[in-house]
Amino acid sequence: MLKKELEIFTFNDLLHHFPLRHIDKTKINKIAEINAFTDYIQVTGRLIHYEVVGAGRGKRLIAQIKDVSGLLELTWFQGINWVEKNLHIGSDYLVFGKTGFFNSKAQMVHPEIEVYIPAKAGVKAFLEPVYPSTEKLKARSLNGRQLAKLTQILFGIVQPKDIPENLPAYLLQELKLLSRYEAFAMIHFPTNEMLYNKALERLKFEELFIAQVRLQLVRLQRNNASKGVVFEKVGAFFNDFYNHHLPFTLTGAQKRVLKDIRNDTARGRQMNRLLQGDVGSGKTMVALLSMLLAADNGYQSCLMAPTEILAQQHYAGLKELLKEMPVELALLTGSTKTAERKRILNGLLEDSIHFVVGTHAVIEDIVQFKNLGLVIVDEQHRFGVAQRAKLWEKAVIPPHVLVMTATPIPRTLAMTAYGDLEYSVMDELPPGRIPITTVQRNEMARASVMGFVKEEITKGRQAYFIYPLIEESEKLSYEDLMQGYEQVKSFFPEPTYKIGMVHGRQPAEQKATNMQRFVRGESQILVSTTVIEVGVNVPNASVMVIESAEKFGLSQLHQLRGRVGRGSEKSFCILLTGSKASKEAKERINIMCATNDGFKIAEKDLEMRGPGDIEGTRQSGALNFKLASIVNDKALLELAKEKAEILVEKDLFLEDQQHQILRNFMQSQKTKHGWGKIA
Ligand code: ADP
Ligand code: MG
Repeated sequence: MLKKELEIFTFNDLLHHFPLRHIDKTKINKIAEINAFTDYIQVTGRLIHYEVVGAGRGKRLIAQIKDVSGLLELTWFQGINWVEKNLHIGSDYLVFGKTGFFNSKAQMVHPEIEVYIPAKAGVKAFLEPVYPSTEKLKARSLNGRQLAKLTQILFGIVQPKDIPENLPAYLLQELKLLSRYEAFAMIHFPTNEMLYNKALERLKFEELFIAQVRLQLVRLQRNNASKGVVFEKVGAFFNDFYNHHLPFTLTGAQKRVLKDIRNDTARGRQMNRLLQGDVGSGKTMVALLSMLLAADNGYQSCLMAPTEILAQQHYAGLKELLKEMPVELALLTGSTKTAERKRILNGLLEDSIHFVVGTHAVIEDIVQFKNLGLVIVDEQHRFGVAQRAKLWEKAVIPPHVLVMTATPIPRTLAMTAYGDLEYSVMDELPPGRIPITTVQRNEMARASVMGFVKEEITKGRQAYFIYPLIEESEKLSYEDLMQGYEQVKSFFPEPTYKIGMVHGRQPAEQKATNMQRFVRGESQILVSTTVIEVGVNVPNASVMVIESAEKFGLSQLHQLRGRVGRGSEKSFCILLTGSKASKEAKERINIMCATNDGFKIAEKDLEMRGPGDIEGTRQSGALNFKLASIVNDKALLELAKEKAEILVEKDLFLEDQQHQILRNFMQSQKTKHGWGKIA
């Protein structure tokens, strides 16, 4: 039962089943104290009544207890038989739970309840742990308090040697951390609140520190061990392009990042760098210049994009930029025809093709290069640490790797999910951009919104209409999209207006054609799902209308909005919302209207959703913390990172005597988690 419900298999698991909170059993409240602001509370009272009412799913057990101040109703929907058996009219009970009001009567649903035995006078405050449990277990009477008893028994048996230290002694001393044994004892059965907090701090630090040591080991060992191809010179490709074909001057941020890349690639070690920049900060140009640098040193490059549309666009964009350069460029995606594919694969093997742009699925699997020197992963927030490792598994001398994120990611997330990479930030937009104005409009205002879009189109601009399509197979949203398309058409009748549509159910070719028509300005309106979310660049588009904006996440909205404001015209983003947006959705929309800063939005997004939901981080394994949170424990994470860096720099293979306990511990964990490499 324990196994199945809570995945508790061993004593060790029980140790790691941390209490949700502690209650001071000596602290008892009066029932009359319960008000609308009460959360969890503990009361005692005499049972005066109970009965089972309702049937089927509405069946429930209702009981009433009474103290000198008032009445409290208790309700159970599950485990009714068991609870009922243990209730005796006239007995006194100790009741703990979350209060609510139902028909303006105070009520507790599924409280923890036990026969009340008054504490003897003079007994010290006793903090009893309350553990998370599941309804099923509760129904079997194994509630949080029973688990507490089990754990208490466990602590009667275990000795300090059973919970050995895993952090080096000098760290414990320096940071004044509790020992591991003390920490476990105090997190379950604290003797006071201060010690509980110390225990929590110690265990959180341990989690964060060990994760950071792992990441730093990966980073530095790879750095030291892996040879990298050397880009020793800046040559004709780069210089010719830079001096004669660069359509603008680089921003300071672009120059800085190029310098980082130049340094990384000249050292004879593999580059593994994360490039973060806000939408529109000009990452593509950084990618291109790096590829030219590779070419100058006789190496091929590949640029991987997450979608076919984006790959096509990169290809078209690069082709245009390179049209007067003696550079061979190829596009390789799922829809590349067999003959063309053959030609490309051959060209890559023979080194007659310098740059290949493609979707990563294609490039990962079959492609062989004569001498691949640089891999750029564009708009990737979907790769975990382990997946990234695959990129260079095949090569003898691994290519340099540059990972570019679509939108900024919060610093703490970068430190954990991308902690194995070096890190550059582009926090500057090209000059002359006019900030996008974002507004929220109600469904009711649709006619005036359409009128506004019409004005913009009359001025020669183009517009996007975006519909939520969460899953490509989702039939309902597909119908919404089609309806939306018809609606747009009714406002913008053909042939005066040309409307294109792209969505995930179209064959790749049709998608590409429709997209290209919009890119070339042959259609003024593009009705689309989020397939255009990443990277699409049509500078003449100045309006984006996002339908049912409440259904989108923050970073998605920001990424979408980044499709406008890319030219020299003032741009607008209109968030259309229905009437029943949740509180959170409203907050997201307010944030969007208030700021264009992707770094700020990323932080907010993380705060609101928590790390578990941020795309691509779930699988990464780097964020599976039981106690620590990268949202709430930022300072501790910074500290853990700093200490981990110092340690790994001093002792790259954890050979030092002082680090043996840590090494052993990490090795024992390794089998469990299956990632993280210790040499
Ligand atoms: P992202 O970082 O979102 O991938 P892009 O690379 O698509 O951004 O660049 C956005 C737009 O800005 C493109 O039209 C690009 O040509 C332009 N751009 C990039 N760098 C500069 C610059 N230094 N000065 C002016 N425009 C630039
Ligand atoms: Mg881009």
